[in-house]
Amino acid sequence: MLVVMRHGATADEVDRVVQVIGELGYDARPMPGAQRTAIGVVGNDGRVDSSRLAALPGVVQIIHVTQPYKQVSREWRPESTIVTIAPGVSFGGDEVPIIAGPCSVESEEQIVEAARAARDAGAAALRGGAFKPRSSPYAFQGLGRKGLDLLAVARQETGLPIVTEAMDDEGAHLVAEYADCIQIGARNMQNYSLLKTVGRIGKPVLLKRGMAATITDLLLSAEYILSEGNEQVILCERGVRTFDPATRNMFDLTAIPTVHQMSHLPIIADPSHGTGIRDRVTPMARAALAAGADGIIVEMHPHPDNALSDGAQSLYPDELTSLIKELRAVATAIGRSVTQTGTTGARSGTQ
Ligand code: PEP
Ligand code: MN
Repeated sequence: MLVVMRHGATADEVDRVVQVIGELGYDARPMPGAQRTAIGVVGNDGRVDSSRLAALPGVVQIIHVTQPYKQVSREWRPESTIVTIAPGVSFGGDEVPIIAGPCSVESEEQIVEAARAARDAGAAALRGGAFKPRSSPYAFQGLGRKGLDLLAVARQETGLPIVTEAMDDEGAHLVAEYADCIQIGARNMQNYSLLKTVGRIGKPVLLKRGMAATITDLLLSAEYILSEGNEQVILCERGVRTFDPATRNMFDLTAIPTVHQMSHLPIIADPSHGTGIRDRVTPMARAALAAGADGIIVEMHPHPDNALSDGAQSLYPDELTSLIKELRAVATAIGRSVTQTGTTGARSGTQ
């Protein structure tokens, strides 16, 4: 439920509403906005009796949020949320950042070469997994902590912020020491204890859609993170499993405008996992941006033929350069722009 205050409501009036919400046994989340201050009521699992609140001074409206996901919904917050993972790299506004890099961190040479290629192509952030959730226990599992150290070296070399995956609660704290944005992968979208942990850690989170998750499932998973007090969540469409083996997944572009209608959170698109085939990545990245994606995350490897994971869907560096050029044209056509960080040298690491 949302308690909407009149424009210009006093701090005392807001405090009184917060106090009464507490007396009713719920948590109050005041949200000052440009147009109005609203106070969210959380902790209820059903309809709250709002009669006491409606009568308080300064209150103009009570909105009962109808969806099961509350804080994530557009009803809760009409204006789009902007999530900033590093200075100048924000998701959800007019600018669209590109995140690029290999599926996995493999060696210092590989990740630094990839980071330089990503930066030179115009990417605003570097991706790369140190902890890899693989379908087979015999496949390359990632370098773990060593991989995080190598990502820190790549960031130091290029200035690109890092997006990297955490697979479990313990790993999340370690990943948070290095990452600018913590990725929760498709296989962990419904790992509720991990969601709560990254909610408490408070760093930006990239939450990928599960392989068989509905959009409502995705939003409910995001709600776990927001309910722990972390509103910096970027959603990601990465394709879902269907009956058709022609591509690795069915890349659901309709999810992008649908999420925008249902939620104020930004949503980006991953055409690499969405298609699984290198040649499909560029056209689907263009389409995702045209559909309104707030960012694109794409796999690029300096030598895809030697990649330890997902080489078949990884772009060559020159393909990334061409793609980002094309994305700039698409962005212009829809009144947006691709983020240009202008980083050409090192910045101090934030490890
Ligand atoms: C990845 O980003 O490399 C990855 C494992 O993605 P997903 O969780 O979407 O399969
Ligand atoms: Mn991958």
